[in-house]
Amino acid sequence: MKVTEHIKKANGNTLFSFEVLPPLKGQNIRSLFDHMDPLMEFNPPFVDVTYHREEFVYKKRENGLLERKTVRKRPGTVGICAAIQNHYQVDAVPHIICGGFSKEDTENALIDLNFLGIDNVLLIQGDTRKPEREFVAEPDGHAHASDLIEQVVELNNGIYLDEELENAKPSDFCIGVAGYPEKHFAAPNMETDLKYLKLKQEKGGDYIVTQMFFDNQSYFNFVEKCRESGITIPIIPGLKPITSSKQLTILPQLFHVDLPMELSKAVEACKNREEVIQVGIEWTIQQSKELMEYGVPSLHYYSMGKSASVYEVAKALF
Ligand SMILES: Cc1cc2nc3c(=O)[nH]c(=O)nc-3n(C[C@H](O)[C@H](O)[C@H](O)COP(=O)(O)OP(=O)(O)OC[C@H]3O[C@@H](n4cnc5c(N)ncnc54)[C@H](O)[C@@H]3O)c2cc1C
Repeated sequence: MKVTEHIKKANGNTLFSFEVLPPLKGQNIRSLFDHMDPLMEFNPPFVDVTYHREEFVYKKRENGLLERKTVRKRPGTVGICAAIQNHYQVDAVPHIICGGFSKEDTENALIDLNFLGIDNVLLIQGDTRKPEREFVAEPDGHAHASDLIEQVVELNNGIYLDEELENAKPSDFCIGVAGYPEKHFAAPNMETDLKYLKLKQEKGGDYIVTQMFFDNQSYFNFVEKCRESGITIPIIPGLKPITSSKQLTILPQLFHVDLPMELSKAVEACKNREEVIQVGIEWTIQQSKELMEYGVPSLHYYSMGKSASVYEVAKALF
């Protein structure tokens, strides 16, 4: 079932959903299910699975020279989605990225997903390939999520890359896109970012999932600005409980988000990791309660391979 249908069916009640990462290469599906099992108690109608492209790592050879290797640390998004749907009978939402994919690769991935009975995709540009600093599109690929949306919409209309196909069957994917309450880091300003977010809706985006944020006011302002700009699709807030004091500096670096003073002070005052985890849980519960009162379609948690904090948050709310 489509994410938008789940939202409609909930009839104004807030859903619980979360995002998982494919396990590191070498692990098996059980390691992911062990992480997901406790969270399934709260009946998520859909679960997102991230996509991780290859990256370059440099290994020092005996002669002192550096050897460049290409590695994919977390492969398996498509297979994991099929395994989740099969094992839990919930909808899995694979993230599909522009980076590293030609249009042909994208079409083949979409055909696989269609055969597997996957109804939803979250379409994004994808992170830059480490250690590169700028995103580079494939020569025959897509530069932006909006271009990727166009391809999926074409397929939904039965238009494949091979124009000579006869009697080609259309897919019917529901399309999620990413939004940034604190602006995407590469956008010169919020207005420009919103212009492109609106373009994603116009091209066929059905709903938005936001980057994590720690101050609900940034989400409320974002929703208001989106609505003023004519963005009408559901905007699902993304939340992440803090689990270590290191995250006070890592999260702003990685995700370009602000942490409120009150939260950073509370984390700094903690004497050990357990106390930090507790602060993270309580902060996220407060955020979630306020967002629920506001009437958000779903509370979407970034579990990042650790379910314990999300479990405690969900237990307090669902
Ligand atoms: C909910 C969520 C899930 C994510 N999941 C993953 C994942 O699984 N794997 C992963 O690698 N990364 C993931 N990311 C990170 C994401 O790939 C990065 O944030 C990326 O830098 C931007 O992705 P986007 O789809 O928002 O890009 P885009 O929509 O392409 O936007 C990127 C930048 O270009 C601008 N822009 C947009 N469209 C155009 C256009 N047509 N012309 C010119 N400029 C334009 C925007 O303003 C923005 O500054 C996720 C992010 C979010 C919020």
